[in-house]
Amino acid sequence: RAKSQGKSRYCVFTYDMYQQAIKLLQLENDLKRAIERQEFIVYYQPIVSLSTGRISGFEALVRWQHPSLGMVSPVEFIPVAEETGLIASIDTWVLKTACRQLRNWQEQKVIDEDVSISVNLSVRLFSQPNLLEIIDQAWRKIQLNPQNLKLEITESAIMDNSEAAAVILQQLRKCQIQLSIDDFGTGYSSLSYLHRFPVNILKIDQSFINAVEPNPRNTGLISTIINLAHTSEMKAIAEGIETPEKLAQLRDLGCDFGQGYLFSKPLAAKSIVDLLASAPQW
Ligand code: C2E
Ligand code: MG
Ligand code: MG
Ligand code: MG
Repeated sequence: RAKSQGKSRYCVFTYDMYQQAIKLLQLENDLKRAIERQEFIVYYQPIVSLSTGRISGFEALVRWQHPSLGMVSPVEFIPVAEETGLIASIDTWVLKTACRQLRNWQEQKVIDEDVSISVNLSVRLFSQPNLLEIIDQAWRKIQLNPQNLKLEITESAIMDNSEAAAVILQQLRKCQIQLSIDDFGTGYSSLSYLHRFPVNILKIDQSFINAVEPNPRNTGLISTIINLAHTSEMKAIAEGIETPEKLAQLRDLGCDFGQGYLFSKPLAAKSIVDLLASAPQW
């Protein structure tokens, strides 16, 4: 920022940066108490099977209801939580909450037994020696079928800790938990890890789906990712579907699942029950 401001070119620390730093410190401080103060909420966004047009699962997305700042986006606080190490307890809380919620919906009979829950895991959790224990506890306690749990990790989470990740991922697979690569196509370009790690699902990043000007090259890229998934016995999910045209295009390309505002924004659990009551189909 200093560079673009001409005169203050040589400023090392501007007032703007000072305010940024203060805000960060405040977030960091407040984040520490957010769990015990019950300020986090999990929202759920439907994942739709493009072949049946029905909801096949949900992605759990955390929200922070800050007492004075209002709703803080995960885009803002997840990086702070990662830096401070608080992410492990947040992700663990989200995992438990989402598992309980799925069980709850099953008991209320608002969903079928095969509907799944997807939970995001930060790269930081992969250096957590007791990650498997955490997952096992959250899951087994609630007595859910492990096949209904999908863990979403990014390419960089795998590549940054590839040794540890390989071990953890193999163990997770042994428990029959499903693994998704989130934001696929935006991380490292090396695809060799796909053979080494037991991945089940590629989530095509929404930047490909929502390209400002759709063009043949972009469509080719999406198609390539879908084919890559299928030739490696994986499934593909398109993120960020916002229009019926996009949905039609992705169906034509043979994409397995879709997620996006066209179907539903992420919603609080209560609103999901209302949505399900209308037996939506696309
Ligand atoms: P993500 O896992 O790739 O989640 C998808 C994001 O895209 C969500 O943003 C979702 O609200 C948004 N989205 C879904 N459909 C559409 C659409 O049609 N159009 C547009 N423009 N956006 C759409 P959200 O909820 O703000 O989350 C942002 C990111 O924060 C997530 O990206 C994930 O990386 C991270 N995150 C969220 N919850 C958690 C969590 O519990 N743990 C960790 N470690 N990360 C989380
Ligand atoms: Mg995700
Ligand atoms: Mg994503
Ligand atoms: Mg993302």
